[in-house]
Amino acid sequence: MPNPKHITERIFQGPQKYIQGPNAIKNSGQYLKALGKKPLLTVDDNVYEIAGKNLISVLEKNGFTIHRARFRGEASVKEIDRLTVEAKDAQVDFVIALGGGKTIDTSKAIANHLGVPIAVMSTTASTDAPCSALSVLYSEEGLFESYRFYQWNPNLVLVDTSVVINAPPRMLAAGIGDALATNVEARQARYSVNFGGGMPTELAGAVCRTCEGTLFRYGKQAYEANKTRSLTPAFEAVVEANTLLSGLGFETGGIAAAHAIHNGFTAIEAMHGLMHGEKVAFGIVCQLILDGADTAELERYIDLMLSVDLPITFELLGIPKVTDAELRAVAKAACAPTETIWNMERAINEDIVFHAIKGADTASREFIRRTGWRKSA
Ligand SMILES: [Zn+2]
Repeated sequence: MPNPKHITERIFQGPQKYIQGPNAIKNSGQYLKALGKKPLLTVDDNVYEIAGKNLISVLEKNGFTIHRARFRGEASVKEIDRLTVEAKDAQVDFVIALGGGKTIDTSKAIANHLGVPIAVMSTTASTDAPCSALSVLYSEEGLFESYRFYQWNPNLVLVDTSVVINAPPRMLAAGIGDALATNVEARQARYSVNFGGGMPTELAGAVCRTCEGTLFRYGKQAYEANKTRSLTPAFEAVVEANTLLSGLGFETGGIAAAHAIHNGFTAIEAMHGLMHGEKVAFGIVCQLILDGADTAELERYIDLMLSVDLPITFELLGIPKVTDAELRAVAKAACAPTETIWNMERAINEDIVFHAIKGADTASREFIRRTGWRKSA
């Protein structure tokens, strides 16, 4: 249902500052000092060991007093409320999110509750959560629940690529899946209201196209570089595509069926071990099928996604025996009234989406059979 309220304003929004490079944490004091002196540092135990200790020692040398909050793993209302109370007691004056998408989305909600600035420091390039003024919230069991929107985007997004290069290549691939959806979805959503509440600008379209072009040029090369921890220009380019370009692109360009179908798949328990971008990748194939993309166009995307080992068949998703009844439930959830699938310009209903999901698996399987693709080592 593109633009049912006849909104005429074009809106583009983004973080105030984006910094990316191999020394970003080492140099972070100079950027963070504009935000305050007493940050809440939201970080899970794993990332604390990998990057948290180092960040704390850098910041303490720069005169900051850090209150460390232990993030327990799910971007749920309960976790947000728990950490907000902790932050209030500690009287922090800004928030630092250190970690992946769920840590970031939780921290944005905390900063919003407190009315203080937020710096997002991504330790992976696995989602496009860092730059946006919204959080995706899940139940404590990991089911998609809702989007929460904020007045402002993060004040600062800082990506230390010397940390990101040490994350498993699977995370970069998931980020590629999420980022590859950006242009595919924005093309469909170009007459729909974006996440800023306005219409997409020309710049949003350019950002989305650049995002996609970067992934086709460098995605595979960056994935391979990640395996040997080689911090190459291709890797830097893909980190930027996954984080900045995809972040600006989805927020101001809009999303459509790929993410709605992803949200539907969160209802299948057997897929809970998969990353956001891995499910979105399959959603891309579904959306292209839904949109009647021709074979050459469809296979261009399938080829790129398989080249970085994204799971775009039922078997690769770990649900080889998924039933029609389960897929119908996914289609039903994807077609919820509040879903972004209604940004599609095509006719949509549960039945059409159910068949597109089956068609996506069929198309990817056929491509694999014909090309002899095998998961890389
Ligand atoms: Zn996404």
